[in-house]
Amino acid sequence: DPACAEPLAVLGRDVTVPLVTGGEVTYAALDYAASAPALQRVWDDVAAYAPYYGSVHRGAGYLSQLSTDLFEQSRVTVAEFLDCRPADQVVFTRSTTDSLNLLAAVLPAGCQVFVFETEHHASLLPWVDAEVTYLNAPRTPAEAVATLERALADRQPHGPALVCVTGASNVTGELWPVKELAAAAHAHGARIVLDAAQLAPHHPVSVQELDVDWVAFSGHKLYAPFGSGVLAGRADWLQEAEPYLAGGGASRKVARREDGGVDVEWHTTAARHEAGSPNVIGVYSIASACKALTEAGFESLVAREHHLIAKVRAGLAEVPAVRVLSLFGDDAPRVGVISFVVDGWNSSHFAAALSAEYGIGVRDGLFCAHPLVRTLLGSEPQEPGECGAPEAAPGERSLNAIRVSFGAGTPDEHVERFVRAVK
Ligand code: PMP
Repeated sequence: DPACAEPLAVLGRDVTVPLVTGGEVTYAALDYAASAPALQRVWDDVAAYAPYYGSVHRGAGYLSQLSTDLFEQSRVTVAEFLDCRPADQVVFTRSTTDSLNLLAAVLPAGCQVFVFETEHHASLLPWVDAEVTYLNAPRTPAEAVATLERALADRQPHGPALVCVTGASNVTGELWPVKELAAAAHAHGARIVLDAAQLAPHHPVSVQELDVDWVAFSGHKLYAPFGSGVLAGRADWLQEAEPYLAGGGASRKVARREDGGVDVEWHTTAARHEAGSPNVIGVYSIASACKALTEAGFESLVAREHHLIAKVRAGLAEVPAVRVLSLFGDDAPRVGVISFVVDGWNSSHFAAALSAEYGIGVRDGLFCAHPLVRTLLGSEPQEPGECGAPEAAPGERSLNAIRVSFGAGTPDEHVERFVRAVK
């Protein structure tokens, strides 16, 4: 039974934390949606490689050559992990946020952008130089497709357009109908980028099967350490635009001109947007995580996660004061990300109590998706800090929410402790 498969070994699984009630307990990291713990396997791969690393694309020395090989091989591994088209480029970035800002920087002139208000700020906000249409939150996947179709059909003029959509919500965990949205985008001459920050760690992503033009994700949510991300997809817009960063590595040839200026020939490969010494360890750890997940098998990872989701949802359903936040309803397919509020509780105090009294780390706040959480809470929260939580007095109605999230490294005991603590 794949649901009974062992959780994958992750860093920090034996960390103990003190409780305010006395004693200490093994920390239950249930905030995978913010950052998942790195897989032990990724850490081991990095440790094995660390003595040999050198700067990539920079020299004839043995270690530099070895690093360059590993760096370039990592692109191939990521392209395979995402089931990219043969001509797609894999650009290494710092994070999903960085990847989407890179894409925003290479949009063709006059490009219109369509984005649902339900997106994470990383996919909601980078389009500052484009004409952006914000689409209202749909209440069903079919409504999402119909809303997008209407907006695309109405657009004037009929120039280049980009749709940006999340694969799995970082608030509700619900899966979005990416394939249908991609078909709608293409039928109306638009392109689509998939924010897979929350999807890729939980679910196989196939660029070809979904027929999306680009995919973005972050290493630190995919069981690799912080500092690296990916933008993968169609090469043309990337090749035609100015480099995202100007500098060494992105330039193929630089020469003084007669008039005293400088002529630059930029690379047309992914290196065009990777100026500066790349984060070779970060890139290598993403590739290692992709391999580890593929080898573990998404079928068993998904089955195990569903087993944990069922436990959490059944447990929360037994607490009348708990309201789980959902856009698409109870039956919507989802990943292990669940947000809720508890009647009579300030969410921040609730999350603090889970940590202090039970050693459970969850997230509270508006999850960098303020418009969505406002829609789901059905009220206008007070001025929050960026990604943060507005303060409410004890006993006041919660103006923010609590999010529990888990994945491939989560043992049953963590979610069982969480349910007990909430009860
Ligand atoms: N998109 C989604 C759906 C996310 O959940 C996040 C991170 N919470 C991001 C984008 C941004 O990822 P990062 O902070 O790694 O850039």
